[in-house]
Amino acid sequence: MPISYDHYLKKYSQYYRDLHPDLQENFKQRTYIASKLLNFKPVKFTIVTEEMKILITSALIQITFGLDNYVLRRFKTILVVPNTYSFKQYDALLGHVDFDKNKIVMSWPSVQEGFIIPDDAFNVALHELAHALQAEKSKSLIFSNFFSAFKMNRWEDEGLKELYKIRQKRHPFLSDYAGINMKELFATCMECFFEQPKEFKLKVPRLYHLMTDLLKQDPTEKEDPLI
Ligand SMILES: [Zn+2]
Repeated sequence: MPISYDHYLKKYSQYYRDLHPDLQENFKQRTYIASKLLNFKPVKFTIVTEEMKILITSALIQITFGLDNYVLRRFKTILVVPNTYSFKQYDALLGHVDFDKNKIVMSWPSVQEGFIIPDDAFNVALHELAHALQAEKSKSLIFSNFFSAFKMNRWEDEGLKELYKIRQKRHPFLSDYAGINMKELFATCMECFFEQPKEFKLKVPRLYHLMTDLLKQDPTEKEDPLI
């Protein structure tokens, strides 16, 4: 295990810094294994550096840390681009998932920013990996299923109520962007779950609880060094 894993995880990941040392070891191992199984491709870069691989993979490990499976099969190709970009009708994209080509694309400075500011509920790596993990199952039975179908259905039933509130412009917590569709709701909730868990739990308790059930972890229960 190269020392760089601990170095970059400590440098960027609040989630990793907050873990007990035993769990840090486990997180690091998972990041190491998963990063070797992903196929990173540079776009307008010469190489995808170890720093990039570690940080992007850490988002996958963060989301799946309560689960047994953390290996992407359908979306194992990740394109790293040097800035925000245009794709189809969209401008200034930070990242997206190409469901036709089974690829994830992310702008490196946007990935860094997502982690450097850990509490603004914007983290493109968490967002895009949430999309990828949710879609892994839908292609065929061969692909791994990360989330229990039963729990995902319960999450979607509750999420639909929140989607309706967002579209009515009367949501106390979730952004308008989350109201685009159920996929965006899920990816946005993932960012909020890890970056503003206390507020999420307080303002949208039922959906928050279903997130903890789905992911088998609760970010509000992490040890607080100030207490
Ligand atoms: Zn999205």
